[in-house]
Amino acid sequence: MAKVAWIGLGIMGYPMAGHIREKGGHDLVVYNRTTAKADKWVAQYGGQKAASPHEAAEGADFVFCCVGNDDDLREVTLGPDGAFHALKQGAVFIDNTTASADIARELDAAARARGAGFLDAPVSGGQSGAENGILTVMVGGAEGDFEKAHPLIACYARQVRLLGPAGAGQLTKMVNQICIAGLLEGLAEGIHFAAKAGLDIPAVMDTISKGAAQSWQMENRWETMMKGEFDFGFAVDWMRKDLAICLGEARRNGAHLPVTALVDQFYSEVQAMGGRRWDTSSLIARLERVAANT
Ligand code: NAP
Repeated sequence: MAKVAWIGLGIMGYPMAGHIREKGGHDLVVYNRTTAKADKWVAQYGGQKAASPHEAAEGADFVFCCVGNDDDLREVTLGPDGAFHALKQGAVFIDNTTASADIARELDAAARARGAGFLDAPVSGGQSGAENGILTVMVGGAEGDFEKAHPLIACYARQVRLLGPAGAGQLTKMVNQICIAGLLEGLAEGIHFAAKAGLDIPAVMDTISKGAAQSWQMENRWETMMKGEFDFGFAVDWMRKDLAICLGEARRNGAHLPVTALVDQFYSEVQAMGGRRWDTSSLIARLERVAANT
């Protein structure tokens, strides 16, 4: 039985850690900044609560992490109470946060200097994917570390793949977000147009979702977009954090991302409309507002 630690019991981390306990049968030591969530997790799944990331990582074979952004990640790893100060030789640190490729490379080097391994392993599939244990996990790192950690990651995933050295997982997640950004604006414009054209939107969606316009976003979001319901799902604030990472990386590697940059601006307008916590499908609310004012 491996000794497993988990840092960050948010919307994603809480159920993901739960799958490692329930499907993997491993005992976990969990840390969460807001202690009440760690208390709730331990009451639900058993295991132990740690007072800091450092304490959680002590003696662990695998240390999982799922926090918000680069700064949070740096704090829970290299900060004064950070997990890296306690990483034992041969341990593997698996980071599920959506963060930059730069910090993945930095943490990979820092882990290696301590004789441990590091995998950047951002996820796709949202809250429901985490709760149902069917996430897609995009991994960067060394083959040996990946092989060790794969059976544990598989507890919360349907698809797990090593895509290259440290940073490759985060770069793949950027591709995922670039694809989704343009797609969501296209879907929003399609539904907005259908409404203006006086079409029967459910009939239109039922028809075209069987053809080339089909997508996960279309199948799962058209109805709530049509009704103007956005109080769930993947928050616009998170998406802007992800798009800033994509656009920053593109500035460095020379990729041209005109639609991604435009959609990022549209999301800033959704934020200004009060939609910081709205699902990313709320781009349609911006279209309706612009159309109403022209
Ligand atoms: P969340 O519910 O806000 O949880 C964030 C977690 O990180 C919480 O446990 C929070 O602790 C902890 N945290 C943040 N800053 C910290 C710090 N400085 N020190 C210690 N702990 C800190 O977010 P989430 O939805 O689970 O998302 C987590 C990551 O997954 C993000 O990178 C996000 O982009 C990515 N992601 C999310 C989704 C989604 O649908 N939600 C989908 C794919 C990927 P507290 O409880 O104390 O705040």
